Amino acid sequence: MNIILLGAPGAGKGTVAELLTARYGIPQISTGDMLRSAVKAGAPLGKKAEGYMKRGELVPDALILEIMEARLQSDDCRGGFILDGFPRTTGQAESLKKILGRLDMKIDAIVNLEVPEDVIIRRLTSRRTCSNTGCQAIYNIFTKPSKKEGVCDKCGSPTVQRDDETEEAIRQRLATYAEKTAPLIEFYRNDPAFITAPSLKPEPAIDAIESLVGR
Ligand code: ADP
Ligand code: ZN
Repeated sequence: MNIILLGAPGAGKGTVAELLTARYGIPQISTGDMLRSAVKAGAPLGKKAEGYMKRGELVPDALILEIMEARLQSDDCRGGFILDGFPRTTGQAESLKKILGRLDMKIDAIVNLEVPEDVIIRRLTSRRTCSNTGCQAIYNIFTKPSKKEGVCDKCGSPTVQRDDETEEAIRQRLATYAEKTAPLIEFYRNDPAFITAPSLKPEPAIDAIESLVGR
């Protein structure tokens, strides 16, 4: 099963993806996680992407498309995948169509996660992320704290606030979302695989996907 998760930063794409991975055994492909790993590793991709990310702007489409076309061809994607944070522009969505055509794949569910803006801002400012790039587990100091403050439950590394989770960068990320990514909702709206789910909790999205794909 191939799934696209859409939604603003903080809409809960990562949380929903984690549940879907557990349920269907398919990998979460987060372009944000891939880029952060590349930045930490000092890889050429990371060097090119870092400045945009810190400012809360999008990385140029060409960079993203290159890593995604390769990623979708890895063995672990054969049984399906969850796209989290890609596509993020209509240009990326057009290119994804072509890539999927070349790979003879199709999308089964496009899920738009809806959350009020005040909730999003609260979530993003209270979010903590595991600093271990191989882990990147996500916590929330109010709703999902790690067992020991500042320490990841899964791997024991320190949990930190991301560079782009300052108030200014958050405001920029939301503006970028409204301008560049929200138009994807119109792009996909008439697709039979498109569904919208309220995302104060992850369950409605999971249920909506299940009713759509009938499993
Ligand atoms: P969030 O969805 O919480 O904003 P992500 O972890 O998905 O965060 O992305 C972090 C940053 O990585 C984005 O602000 C952007 O700079 C970059 N990025 C991630 N995915 C894409 C993409 N598909 N296209 C362009 N830039 C991206
Ligand atoms: Zn961790």
